[in-house]
Amino acid sequence: MKRDYKTLIGGEWLTTGQTMDVVNKYSGEVFATVPLADKELTVRAIDCAARAFTTFRKAPAHQRAKVLEKASELLLVRAEEIARTIALEAGKAWKFALNEVQRSAETFKFAAEEAKRGHGEMLPMDASRFGENRLGYFIREPIGVIGAITPFNFPLNLVAHKVAPAIAAGNTVVLKPASSTPVSAILLAEVLDEAGLPPGVFNVTIGSGATVGDTIVTHPDCRKITFTGSVAVGGEIIKKAGIKKVTLELGNNSATIIEADADLAKAAARCVVSAFANSGQVCISLQRIYVNQRVIEKFTEIFLDKVTALKVGDPLDRDCDVGPMIDARERERIDAWVKEAVAQGATIAAGGRAEGRVYLPTVLMGVTEDMKVMCLEAFGPVVSIVAYDDFAETLARVNDSDFGLQAGIYTSDINKALTAVEELNVGGVMINDTPTFRVDQMPYGGNKLSGLGREGVRFAMEEMTNIKVVVINRN
Ligand code: NAP
Repeated sequence: MKRDYKTLIGGEWLTTGQTMDVVNKYSGEVFATVPLADKELTVRAIDCAARAFTTFRKAPAHQRAKVLEKASELLLVRAEEIARTIALEAGKAWKFALNEVQRSAETFKFAAEEAKRGHGEMLPMDASRFGENRLGYFIREPIGVIGAITPFNFPLNLVAHKVAPAIAAGNTVVLKPASSTPVSAILLAEVLDEAGLPPGVFNVTIGSGATVGDTIVTHPDCRKITFTGSVAVGGEIIKKAGIKKVTLELGNNSATIIEADADLAKAAARCVVSAFANSGQVCISLQRIYVNQRVIEKFTEIFLDKVTALKVGDPLDRDCDVGPMIDARERERIDAWVKEAVAQGATIAAGGRAEGRVYLPTVLMGVTEDMKVMCLEAFGPVVSIVAYDDFAETLARVNDSDFGLQAGIYTSDINKALTAVEELNVGGVMINDTPTFRVDQMPYGGNKLSGLGREGVRFAMEEMTNIKVVVINRN
């Protein structure tokens, strides 16, 4: 049954003059409507957040922690309902949707804990001759209104990664979720409201990037912008934001190296999940697999067996592995990239076509580094397997990318693993794992075009606070 949602602004649940349909990405049916914000309402939300900040900035840490802890509990109480919403609006297979809710609950739990640790440091003032007889320390203070803009692929946990640390640090938030997946954000607002978050601390404005997004980015009272999404939009945001803090979590064309001494069965099993979970629409989805040519035949055989066993179809089926892509445009784009690769000499070892709204898990062989499926971010269920014989040269091939988010290496040789850590220009190296590994307390973010700054609750809190230094003169 279709549900008409309201949105939370300034502590009130509102409808607006205009609504937007939200569709089930598998069936195409409308399952919800949400209220659309215009520029005026977005400015009102920012004003509410700015007013709320005047008191919330002084809310004691134990109170902030209590609300975050309660939100974490409520997310788990409502886990099945919220997972269903994620499966419907994002097309994410049930088991991964449920994972996302459980991870979001953890993100809030970590934030509840970190809220109590927002301490500063004493400074060794007398390390300078000019600082003698002075007592110095610094504290971290909340910045103010945080403008948060999020993508469609983790409609709950990527919102949680902005909202939970913002609240933990004493900020207030105006959130613009992705237009294709706004309902999870509304459900999170319901949870935070029930958890006792004061009015105006969290506000949700749904609407296009050009109106709502642009208003948030350019408004002088949004003192920090935290954005997760594409390089193109991130680039626009950094140009428009002006003098304010900006965190950008952008894309990647993630690679894993499989050395000849790796446990091939374990590696292949992880690689399949990493390439095809959420139809490859994950910023750290596995896109390039470099396999030592001594073991490529064996690896590919195990890998393809597991790909063929994937269950594709309706994300609401409890045993579904791969659901639909977010929309027809994305499905057609990925199909065009696969066809182009084939025209340039690649061969299809699995998939290579759509089945309804699902693009089948696709494995390419015989690719070259200049094909779009290799050098751009695919953000779809397509992975390429490439043979190599020289380890050092392969590290250079992994690095030969505009991106630098995370990379993986499978080897039982500690020296090779540590060489990879030293040489790879990325924000994270996963040893005996794929680049897709993430838990929510670890620092997460990329180098080069993959972005600026880091998330992961404690690290996001650092990005969402200003340092204030205090010096007491005892001379
Ligand atoms: P997107 O098209 O860049 O959209 C992201 C958000 O930006 C959406 O809310 C979008 O609104 C909004 N937006 C669009 N134009 C804007 C503008 N001019 N000003 C302000 N906001 C604007 O990305 P997506 O397709 O949703 O997500 C896919 C991308 O996200 C991939 O590149 C992926 O790698 C990246 N991603 C990165 C991470 C990470 O942590 N590094 C995690 C997940 C995803 P509308 O929806 O209304 O257009």
